[in-house]
Amino acid sequence: MNSFTFYNPTQLVFGKDSIEKLPAMINQFTSGTKVLITYGGGSIKRTGLYDRVIGLLEGFEVFELEGIEPNPRLSTVKKGVQLVKDNNIDFILAIGGGSVIDGTKLISAASTIDEDPWKIVTREVTPTAAVPFGTILTIAATGSEMNSGSVITNWETNEKLGWGSPLVFPKFSLLNPEVTYTLPKNQTVNGIVDSMSHLLEQYFNEADNSAVGDAMIAGVMKAIMKAGLAVQDEPENYEARETLMIGATVALNGFMRMGYNGDWATHNIEHAVSAVHDIAHGAGLAVLFPAWMTYVSGKSPERFAQFAEDVFDVDASLPQEEKVKAGIAGITDYWKAIGAPSSLSEFDIPESDFEVFADKTLFNGPFGNFYKLNKEDVIEIYKLAH
Ligand code: NAP
Ligand code: FE
Repeated sequence: MNSFTFYNPTQLVFGKDSIEKLPAMINQFTSGTKVLITYGGGSIKRTGLYDRVIGLLEGFEVFELEGIEPNPRLSTVKKGVQLVKDNNIDFILAIGGGSVIDGTKLISAASTIDEDPWKIVTREVTPTAAVPFGTILTIAATGSEMNSGSVITNWETNEKLGWGSPLVFPKFSLLNPEVTYTLPKNQTVNGIVDSMSHLLEQYFNEADNSAVGDAMIAGVMKAIMKAGLAVQDEPENYEARETLMIGATVALNGFMRMGYNGDWATHNIEHAVSAVHDIAHGAGLAVLFPAWMTYVSGKSPERFAQFAEDVFDVDASLPQEEKVKAGIAGITDYWKAIGAPSSLSEFDIPESDFEVFADKTLFNGPFGNFYKLNKEDVIEIYKLAH
């Protein structure tokens, strides 16, 4: 492992009574009264969460940014920045999933600069301050509620890029698993695939020793998979929703990769697709991760054999090739069983786009910390996903 300092300042407030703690949580971080709430396309109004939060914010002056898109867009972030600047907002509250939280992270940082927010994403400007914000999470998926990363789509340039700063850890995140009962089935599934993909990205890492991380990843992966099956027939199974929610949070809050980064090639490969076709992140990963595993396992099989033993308890005495196959089948069969997509062609994405996608993934040159991919490798992976 590399030397490291672990830092995660987000206060995680978890349970059926978490949302009611909102006013006290905000008051920890500001003595001001102007709160901007940010949310998505209206699910919080349909589910009643919006009314509940407005009730809790009595005593604050509330401003609103509605309509942060799945795959949050730069254009909407700019509207939020304007609202913060025009109204001297003291605190921002993101209510939603990874998209609303990621968009809010950029609003929070970009409201303290005079330049275009996109320059923060492209690293031309490094923010030195951010407006404090908290979150109420409505979908178990990204881990954005307890990390300092954010992914933004620029429709003018068809780019979807990740950025991060220690300034944009949420001050607090309120997680009540009951809030996720109303998720449409495909969004629950996308969230399961995304959180499992975060675990996969970190299992396939560059470290010479990741024994503790491996053990945590295998355990959390098994728990998520079991709970993911339970919610298929019983969306209001509290314990299963609880497991999915805490599972997704710890999958990407830094715990699983102390001393290394993880691979992260498949996230880059997926972002290139959703930058052009606006597909759901989890759906794209469901198609692309098995393709990445198939391709890279041919080049570097030992780790894939270990993966099958760790996560699927495959008999260690089997030949390596069989173990590798069993590990990949374990993931693909599970994702099929919960109804995730399994081929890029399901999204009407033509093979002629692969070259464009591959060029987008290579904006920083060859990538992937476990196995470095060049352009031909990336195109092969897209073909395997077709
Ligand atoms: P999302 O895009 O935030 O939400 C997906 C959909 O689910 C939206 O249409 C939303 O509707 C709906 N929804 C959310 N909660 C609901 C509920 N409780 N009931 C009913 N509908 C609900 O999903 P996400 O997977 O959390 O976020 C995906 C984004 O995060 C992608 O852009 C991805 O690239 C990024 N990401 C970020 C990180 C990170 O660490 N920051 C990691 C991985 C991925 P409404 O819009 O109407 O609310
Ligand atoms: Fe992700």
